[in-house]
Amino acid sequence: MDVRAHMSMLFHLDKCIGCHTCSVACKNLWTDRKGAEYMWWNNVETRPGTGYPTGWEDQEHYRGGWEKSWVGVELKLHNRPQGLANLFYNPALPELDDYYEPFTFRYEDLFSAPEGDHQPTAVPISAITGDPIDIEAGPNWDDDLSGSNIYAANDPNMAGIATEVREQMSEIERVVFNYLPRICNHCLNPACVAACPSGAIYKRGEDGVVLVDEDKCRAWRMCVSACPYKKVYYNWSTGKSEKCILCFPRMETGQAPACAHSCVGRIRYMGVLLYDADLIQWAAEGPEEELFDRQNEVILDPFDPAVVAAARQNGLDDGTIAAAQNSPAYKFVKEWKLALPLHAEYRTIAMMFYIPPLSPVVSTIEQGLVRLDISPDQIDFELFRGLEKARLPIKYLANLFSAGNEEVIEGILRKMLAVRIYKRRQSVEGFIDEATEALIESAGTTPEEIEAIYRMTTLPTMEERFVFPPYHREMSAQTVYGDPLARKGETGFGYTDAPKRGA
Ligand code: SF4
Ligand code: SF4
Repeated sequence: MDVRAHMSMLFHLDKCIGCHTCSVACKNLWTDRKGAEYMWWNNVETRPGTGYPTGWEDQEHYRGGWEKSWVGVELKLHNRPQGLANLFYNPALPELDDYYEPFTFRYEDLFSAPEGDHQPTAVPISAITGDPIDIEAGPNWDDDLSGSNIYAANDPNMAGIATEVREQMSEIERVVFNYLPRICNHCLNPACVAACPSGAIYKRGEDGVVLVDEDKCRAWRMCVSACPYKKVYYNWSTGKSEKCILCFPRMETGQAPACAHSCVGRIRYMGVLLYDADLIQWAAEGPEEELFDRQNEVILDPFDPAVVAAARQNGLDDGTIAAAQNSPAYKFVKEWKLALPLHAEYRTIAMMFYIPPLSPVVSTIEQGLVRLDISPDQIDFELFRGLEKARLPIKYLANLFSAGNEEVIEGILRKMLAVRIYKRRQSVEGFIDEATEALIESAGTTPEEIEAIYRMTTLPTMEERFVFPPYHREMSAQTVYGDPLARKGETGFGYTDAPKRGA
């Protein structure tokens, strides 16, 4: 057993309101500069939809992630000899149109326009060429199902969903969508690291954060293609790749990453997961239907004395072990089994996790669907019994979160509904009847577990949501750089001088 520690973020999708505060906080902190305009290290997608960059889940097109082969798993992009032979040939790279052309406006038009009858307007111009452009795409162009016939209808996760169900999903009174915030998954088997010909991307030993060494990056952009989540971006100005750094400088000083700290819906949690590095290859190579279970096996029980002893032997300090025992990520992922990685079938072993959303209740009375002419607790009972008729098809959620395994999704939704029904009975009726007791038992949970889930979902303090191990990096940073404030205004973390093209 090779025990290591990993920082993981957890997204409770039921709570996301799609406000994009997280994206804006991240952009203001890290990518508010030339060459990084189109970079959204954190973005929030409306689902169903094609996401950002558009269609990123279409791996037949983008060739991201890993696939099974006779040697175990290989990058879908290329194997090692092909990678060397085709160093200058990378047709799977997303193009500018798959993102959008960064733009600004010629504000001087507002001041220099000749006198006339009409209000002058600032012409949109390309941030790259400076030429006037017609803006045809931008961040969250398909927000809240705008352009559904182009975007939602082409969501690859609709695969296997019957045509009439697809049509119903976009009907005006039954329209259904949810939000999906995304950052780099800081994968255990990162395709970006494996694809980099320069060895510029690496995974930090102490917390699993995946970083690009800007000095070593030579702009091959294989990482951009190989990441199935399209979470490495190429800076067209500096000629270097960049990606989410999980706000490691914030974590090292005990602060949550900017996206998590600013999250209005308080949907994000962070904590340490202990994992067994010896099992990574086994987990990545499993048959598709076992991928999720195998990933769960890689994550270890921090209360198990054998795990604690192996962790200490590997040099993990007691502060990190205590943080793992107190981790909200561990509770949601392993203890309560409510959280799943995004697209386990990419075999990168993503280490950010999602609690799938419950569907909203339909607003029309239809045969077999949930009705509004009954009280809310009866609606929940009805939804509990008829999950297969939920507005957001189970199949759709399974395609997103459990490599197509619908049973896993059903189990999670049932447990979440059980929490809702139990707490509603308790607080509105003032008692728990036999029907509710039977229901929570059939959902595989207990009153104690329900109270713990309820507390962590609705009432957690900042300290319960974000549990960081003691890093003590602030002292080493001071040793290297002296007064950190003296560096204020320099070009960022990983380098203190501006990177130069080709350097
Ligand atoms: S999600 Fe992050 S760690 Fe995983 S392959 Fe993409 S860039 Fe690499
Ligand atoms: S800030 Fe939180 S609630 Fe708002 S979009 Fe981001 S993840 Fe969702």
